Amino acid sequence: MTLLNGNERAARSPALHHDSFSYESGQLFIEGMSVNEIADAIPTPFYCYSAATISNAYRLLADKLGSSRTSICFAVKANSNVSVLRLLSDLGCGMDIVSGGELERALAAGTQPSKLVFSGVGKTRAEISRALAVGIHQINVESPAELDAIRDIARSLGRRAPIVFRVNPDVDAKTHAKISTGKKGDKFGIALEEIPELYAKAEASPELDVAGLAVHIGSQLLDLSPYRAAYERLADLVKTLRSRSHQVRRLDLGGGLGISYDFGAGPDVGEYAKIIEETVSSIDCELTVEPGRWLVGPAGLLVTEVLYLKNTGNMATAIVDAAMNDLMRPSLYSAVHPVLPLQNIDGGDSSTYQLVGPVCETSDVFGSYEGLPKLREGARLAFGCAGAYGASMASTYNSRDLIAEVLVDGAQFRVIRRRQTIGDLLALEADAPWQSSNTYADAATAL
Ligand code: PLP
Repeated sequence: MTLLNGNERAARSPALHHDSFSYESGQLFIEGMSVNEIADAIPTPFYCYSAATISNAYRLLADKLGSSRTSICFAVKANSNVSVLRLLSDLGCGMDIVSGGELERALAAGTQPSKLVFSGVGKTRAEISRALAVGIHQINVESPAELDAIRDIARSLGRRAPIVFRVNPDVDAKTHAKISTGKKGDKFGIALEEIPELYAKAEASPELDVAGLAVHIGSQLLDLSPYRAAYERLADLVKTLRSRSHQVRRLDLGGGLGISYDFGAGPDVGEYAKIIEETVSSIDCELTVEPGRWLVGPAGLLVTEVLYLKNTGNMATAIVDAAMNDLMRPSLYSAVHPVLPLQNIDGGDSSTYQLVGPVCETSDVFGSYEGLPKLREGARLAFGCAGAYGASMASTYNSRDLIAEVLVDGAQFRVIRRRQTIGDLLALEADAPWQSSNTYADAATAL
């Protein structure tokens, strides 16, 4: 997998996403920075994001959605680094959060509560209280039981809770089964036919400000037709509710816009905007979308180094220092991320390698890659399109620390999350008092 040169890129991908990655004299660059230079300063593995790619994506989407006056709330789950959130927030982007932790991150990034929407099937009472206390713009209600909880909490706080109902439209998003959320039987949302009764009940509660409806049918949608089906159902439901004299002034259209994981163009955002225009913009509601992956996915690299080479069966295998705990998507969804050598010598020998991580799981495999340069121990590679659901899904499995995140802006870079140490991890744990006393004094200096 190699990046296209400038002319090829322009011919193949009129979109924006990958203009920030290029090879210059055989060296991979992210914006104006050689990735090798960053890797000389920061131990691999680490994540590295292009600020320009994120800003350009936001501006393009805002521009395409401009005519329908749709506001954008970034799905924080895709990349929850506070510096990334601040970058988007400073551009005017709101945030879609799914936990109290994400709420604090969005606030820490300077996002106004009036630009926050709170999704998710299992909000705790503490999370709901905090969201109401800070003056959140909207809570997306996912069940009748949650509606009761929000009403009770609002009453006890003496506040009105701004809510919309998340509808399950029973539409097949035609994506991976594990990231499909809008089919009957999925755990998300409330069945269409249950909404009118709940809407009436909520409107009768003075503690609730019932603003409208929300829908989110899944993630990584490459075929846009399910959006049309879902939004048409939503528009029909608005008509039904209005015919019963209910006020519907807001529609949250969810996220899910997919990206191409091979540096291709991906779905056409203009087409997405057109679907919104044609299905819901005439019904006179404020509109919101909640993209995550599309805004940040193409902007990120996971930079890694080859530890060892070995043959497994007939396959040349490179064991790299990044693993499934750093980037879970390959083992969780069988996702394949493109691989870019940090140094690419034109015309050199190439070979096929299976790339695997060090974690003790058979599924810790990134994939099999053709056309890589001959690898040696210490060679550096980057997994591309790793800006979404990479760092934010990472775990410390195998007691591997969470790796650093770096933001590049032009010719400068900055560590925006330092790498965890084993000391950080051990500091959270304690022996029980009845266990033998500890003789291990200083975890931090052990590694
Ligand atoms: N909104 C909600 C409610 C979600 O659950 C998700 C992710 O699944 C998103 C938005 C963002 O999805 P994506 O990153 O695919 O745009």
